Amino acid sequence: MSFELTILGSNSAVPAFGRHPSSQVLSLDGNKFLIDCGEGCQLQMSKYNIKRGKLDHIFISHLHGDHYFGLFGLINTLNLNGREAPLNIYGPPDLEGMLQSVLGDYSHRLQYELVFHGLTMDSAETILETKDCRVSTLVMNHSIECLGFQFEQIKQKPNVSTEKLQALGIEGKTIGQLLAGEVVKDLEGNTVHLEDVTLPSSRGCIYTYCSDTARKPENIQRLNDTDVLYHEATFLNSRQDRAEATGHSTAKDAAWMAKEAGVKDLLIGHFSARYENLEPLLEECQASFIRSHLALEGHSFELSTEGLKLV
Ligand SMILES: [Zn+2]
Ligand SMILES: [Zn+2]
Repeated sequence: MSFELTILGSNSAVPAFGRHPSSQVLSLDGNKFLIDCGEGCQLQMSKYNIKRGKLDHIFISHLHGDHYFGLFGLINTLNLNGREAPLNIYGPPDLEGMLQSVLGDYSHRLQYELVFHGLTMDSAETILETKDCRVSTLVMNHSIECLGFQFEQIKQKPNVSTEKLQALGIEGKTIGQLLAGEVVKDLEGNTVHLEDVTLPSSRGCIYTYCSDTARKPENIQRLNDTDVLYHEATFLNSRQDRAEATGHSTAKDAAWMAKEAGVKDLLIGHFSARYENLEPLLEECQASFIRSHLALEGHSFELSTEGLKLV
């Protein structure tokens, strides 16, 4: 099963140096998730060949404009494109009223249903389960109520052991019969069930998106099983005072969270407009967590339990 992340925007607050506000797309087989929707998101989707029509679920972390002002244009475009399938939007409860007041009467002329899911902002919860994925929230530590999102891949297929199959001399069509639930015979004529040749199911990949937040040690436990962590790193540590005053993290904070949680790879983003060159942010992270990477726009990463790989 493919689990792929494309970065559409990774700047904070205002666009700068060609960088856009927060937005990324996570594709998992049949599901396409949009995580935050900063201004310019739909243009970035066109630029990087993300098919808008395949989008069914949008997750908004909080109500700072750099995380949701792209939503209105996108809703309009989907309508003009003839969308008919419902569109699910998950976000802070106040977002519903904002959508209604911006869209006004136009919301009644939409050809598709806009399904709004107001989220609990002060405690974690599971908000979506599909056959391939489970999505849950984490509470961030920001200047206003803000959530992170955790995406867990659900493995459906049995974890068949090749060694066990070989030891029993089961091959070819017989494997297919076993997978279909049939009882087969091994070389010596003994009956074999599917559970005789499977290992405990390995878990799927977990990707966690930590949106705007100051360092939050209380979330370390929730991040323990995370394979790939996106964590904001708005400032360099030299601006720790500014980070604290605005509820943001430094690159050093992001690396600390990744290291304490024991994740495989760290992606940093939400870069302050004060930095044209992002390398110092990366270097600051890598000084304590070597597998750190910049969330650069247009980059796609394949995610797995081994970590991330640039596609
Ligand atoms: Zn922000
Ligand atoms: Zn914010």
